[in-house]
Amino acid sequence: MKFIRKKSFFIGNKLKPLLSSSSLESRYNLWQIFIALLFEYLIPLLSAEKYPTHHLNVERLMRATFRHFTYLAKTTPIYLIDQLTNYKIKDRIALLTYISKKKWEYRKMGEIYRASTDLAFQGIIRNHTSTNGCKGLPAQFVSYTNILTTTCPQCPNSICSAHHLIRKHQLNIDTRRDYQTGIKKKRTTTRLRKEKKTGSSRDDVIESMAQVCTSNLIKVKTLLDKLRNPIKMNKI
Ligand SMILES: [Zn+2]
Repeated sequence: MKFIRKKSFFIGNKLKPLLSSSSLESRYNLWQIFIALLFEYLIPLLSAEKYPTHHLNVERLMRATFRHFTYLAKTTPIYLIDQLTNYKIKDRIALLTYISKKKWEYRKMGEIYRASTDLAFQGIIRNHTSTNGCKGLPAQFVSYTNILTTTCPQCPNSICSAHHLIRKHQLNIDTRRDYQTGIKKKRTTTRLRKEKKTGSSRDDVIESMAQVCTSNLIKVKTLLDKLRNPIKMNKI
């Protein structure tokens, strides 16, 4: 674990110029290539580990490396990071343990195990994999998410979540669910456009989502400035 922490933070620092100018989707892809792979080495050890503390420590480290790669704030809710990473230790343990067992059983019989023809494995894959949560998300989404995890300047002990801003300050902004619906809609329209062989679907989705994030970000920033300096803003 110490090695993974050191290595992932070292890679993250080296890739800083690239990461800071990339979309959240690209940052996620780089994290998958360089970091998620390191966690795979822990899976055999974890599958034999009975104490939940070790599992929790690995999950905590994984979230820390993801935040380091994507520039998400430390205050980002755990559920959101888990949705975005799309990497669940329990799912990886279930998949890799099943494959290893099958390979060993087949090897004892002198045969080769092929996962593509195993219907039971296809069922396990369906139950233990989730969709890529970062698909179509621009870098601006990180700034937007980070501002929504800050504390409200007016309400004590309250976080400026989209729900809080709508309920307490009547500021209508997009929630994470709205983004997912927006991305799905954009993907459908760009897929249709791609079939007619015009436009680039991936870049189109990220570009339009960047515009949506920026407009929401401006709305939140203006409100927070207003809440921090009510007299100054009224004079203006
Ligand atoms: Zn408030």
